[in-house]
Amino acid sequence: MSNPMNTWHRLRAGNEKFFVPVRGGQREPALQAPIAAVFRCADAAVGSEMILGQSWGSLVDVSTWGHVIDDGVLATMECAVDTLEVPLIVVLGHADCRAMRAAMRAWDDAVIPEGATRIAVQQALSSIVRRGASADSVDGVTAAHIVETGVALMERSPIISQRIDAGKCGIICVTTDPVSGQLRTHAAIGPVGEVPDTLLECV
Ligand SMILES: [Zn+2]
Repeated sequence: MSNPMNTWHRLRAGNEKFFVPVRGGQREPALQAPIAAVFRCADAAVGSEMILGQSWGSLVDVSTWGHVIDDGVLATMECAVDTLEVPLIVVLGHADCRAMRAAMRAWDDAVIPEGATRIAVQQALSSIVRRGASADSVDGVTAAHIVETGVALMERSPIISQRIDAGKCGIICVTTDPVSGQLRTHAAIGPVGEVPDTLLECV
C-alpha cells in the first residue's frame, strides 16, 4: 500500500535514471531542447511522451484537471513558444475523462460542484455552449472542450496569437481514440497542415 514515505523513495530512486554520469564523477541531467508543448488533462492515464512516442524531456508537458486554463498555464505556454521557441502546441484530450463526465453531470443536474474543481466544470460547460455541442457523450464533450481550449490559448495570449500570425507556431487539438489509442484531430490553428477528422468546425 502506498504511503508518503515509500512513494517518495520510489520517486527518489527514479530520479537517478534521469541523470547520466560525466567525466570527473560529476552527475548532470540529460537536458535537451523541447520540440513541442503539450497541454493535457491531469487525470489522463498515460503521459504525453508515451502517447506521442517522444523521449522524456522532449516536450513542455503541462497538465491541469480538465484542461483548466489559468495564468500559470498561459505563462508556461508563452514561455514555451516565445522563449523556448517551440513551433507547436498540442491540446491533448483523452478517453473517458473524469472532468468531462463531471461536466456532463453538472449539465444534466444543473448543479455546479463545490470546491476548486468547479472551475474545470465551468470551463467545460462553457465549451459545450460555445461549440453548440451535445452533452450526451463524453467523447463529444471532450472534443468540444479540446477545440475551445485551443482557441482560448490563442485568444487569451497575444504572444501566442502573434506567433501564430507570424507562421512560427500552430495549435492542434486532438484526442486519443478510446480503443486504438490513435490520435483524432478536431481542429488545427495556424500552419499545422492537418485536416480535422471530425465534423467540428475548423478554426
Ligand atoms: Zn481527464
